[in-house]
Amino acid sequence: MTLEGKRAVVTGGGQGIGRAIALKLASLGAHVAVADINEKSARDVADEITAAGGAATAYRVDVSDHEETAGLMKDVVEALGGVDILVNNAGITRDNLILRMPPEDWDLVLRVNLTGTFNCIRAAARPMMSQRSGRIINISSIIGQVGNIGQANYAASKAGIVALTKTAARELGARGITVNAVAPGFIETPMTESLSEKVREDFTTKILLRRLGAPEDVANLVAFLASDEGDYITGQTINIDGGMVW
Ligand code: NAP
Repeated sequence: MTLEGKRAVVTGGGQGIGRAIALKLASLGAHVAVADINEKSARDVADEITAAGGAATAYRVDVSDHEETAGLMKDVVEALGGVDILVNNAGITRDNLILRMPPEDWDLVLRVNLTGTFNCIRAAARPMMSQRSGRIINISSIIGQVGNIGQANYAASKAGIVALTKTAARELGARGITVNAVAPGFIETPMTESLSEKVREDFTTKILLRRLGAPEDVANLVAFLASDEGDYITGQTINIDGGMVW
């Protein structure tokens, strides 16, 4: 599998799953634009890639801001000559029961997770359409399929990503652009590290493979979908959860 000569944008690439995806795509030969709201973490990951002999550039972006995502894609196209792979990975949680959820937390999670994905697809679709090729991979979650107590905002945003993925696949397929979603289960990252040992154990007993996922597990699937080997897959949501939800 190779991504030699490909130009990739990974949002939320500064840590966790996004970092693992950026490292994986770069290890396969892609030039990776590591885009994160945290400029320092984006720079650290880009430095890690270049230190390992790969190619990467760091960008600061808030995906929830339409202007900023348009600016990001413009800068990437100017610097690299186009964009072949977009991974919409940036995401946040603001957990609370519905009755206690501040409306601002509902809005914020929808704005970052769902509107952010829309903003980046919208910005990348034009250059991809003129190239007549492209790969868009959106990070959803199994929580978007089954719901979770205290995560109404997050679950709705991740279910929305599935519908957005299907629609974008329909609109862009004729131009040679595939659009898929990946739905991870429980992956060990900074997002999940604050969960108690009890919650982790409860989750583990529900996973057929009896282990929590690693960011690299998700990165391997994303790399496959971004590669020539994933050429004939579009409009799909693929779960990667060790056997939790199906
Ligand atoms: P993470 O460790 O919190 O990393 C997310 C990254 O996105 C951080 O670097 C964060 O920066 C950045 N970010 C946050 N808001 C942003 C914005 N508005 N614009 C640009 N970047 C932004 O999370 P993760 O666990 O790696 O999760 C990555 C993705 O996988 C998310 O979409 C998440 O919902 C999804 N997912 C995760 C799991 C899991 O078990 N970990 C399961 C299913 C799905 P800051 O740290 O500075 O905020």
